[in-house]
Amino acid sequence: MNNDDIMSMTPAELREYMISVGEPAYRAKQVFSWISRGVFPEEMTNLPLPLREKLAAGGYRMPRILTRQDSKDGETSKYLFALVDGECVESVLMRHGYGTSLCISSQVGCRMGCAFCASTRAGRVRDLLPSEMIGQIAAAGRDSGERVDKVVVMGIGEPLDNYENVVKFLRLLNEKDGLGIGLRNVSLSTCGLVPEIKKLADEGLPVTLSVSLHAYSDEKRRELMPVARKYPLDALMEACRYYFEKTGRRISFEYTLIAGKNDSPEDARGIVSLLREKMGYPSHVNLILLNEVKETGLRRPAGDMAAKFAEMLVSMGQNATVRRSLGGDIEGACGQLRRTREADRSGKENFTKG
Ligand code: SAH
Repeated sequence: MNNDDIMSMTPAELREYMISVGEPAYRAKQVFSWISRGVFPEEMTNLPLPLREKLAAGGYRMPRILTRQDSKDGETSKYLFALVDGECVESVLMRHGYGTSLCISSQVGCRMGCAFCASTRAGRVRDLLPSEMIGQIAAAGRDSGERVDKVVVMGIGEPLDNYENVVKFLRLLNEKDGLGIGLRNVSLSTCGLVPEIKKLADEGLPVTLSVSLHAYSDEKRRELMPVARKYPLDALMEACRYYFEKTGRRISFEYTLIAGKNDSPEDARGIVSLLREKMGYPSHVNLILLNEVKETGLRRPAGDMAAKFAEMLVSMGQNATVRRSLGGDIEGACGQLRRTREADRSGKENFTKG
């Protein structure tokens, strides 16, 4: 953490900071609360001017909204944010009947190399700091005027590849003087980094873990996800069992349907036996229809394949639903984020290569 990255500080750290710069400790609470409202230092009207100037000149990392695209049906808004060093990330606000969720990014780019995903195509540029994850929620909440009830860490990046920052972010999210979002309302999605899944299980944070499965055998999974070469399904399922045993939280397995790759009845049977034999605990399968990313050559199955696949799973006793895809018309759907602006960044750093 930078010494002046005040948005990444816990209330206790912020109190120490205030004292170290000669301010009374109670300033910490004031600033902490402003941060959760998406405010910039110049607007913190209950602070003395010199402190506001100090915060503005230092490492205040509230992302700035570059653009907001709203879907035609008004259910989804996609934000493009500029971070203080000029890098960009996206968040997607989704309005459901039961509340508002924000899907946030955890890295600038990604190095996991999944074959179907847009966010990984130019590799990883850098990790996001806790401040920059908190900032996405605070800024989108302020702009929309809506209370963000649920947070999903499923945007750009692999959250468990940025472990320390993500865990600190989760703890900050839960602070009552800040955003005050209960961790039961948080879902975190991983491509399957086994040691970090186990570590997360030991943190005592009741977040829902989503694990990107996408195939029932190692052979098939390796074709789609390079991470499967490092962590085979046996190890992944063991980590998932451990997560369930430690947290009591049912794991949600994500399964993106790709035409001709993983959408046959044999695949459905394979998934059911994998989860029955290797997971053993109750779990949920979340089916997603591929959002096509042109350059990958992979295609979305035709017709109502997702509903058929879900029916097959359910008929074999596996709990499964089809994820409603929001934001397709604004490229806000899964795996499509950040594709145009950052299309050909240099500095590739793919998992496959190194
Ligand atoms: N790194 C995390 C979060 C990624 S995005 C992870 O791998 O889980 C969340 C989900 O969207 C993952 O399951 C991911 O595999 C899936 N996804 C990525 N690109 C997609 C695409 N083009 N179409 C459908 N789902 C996609």
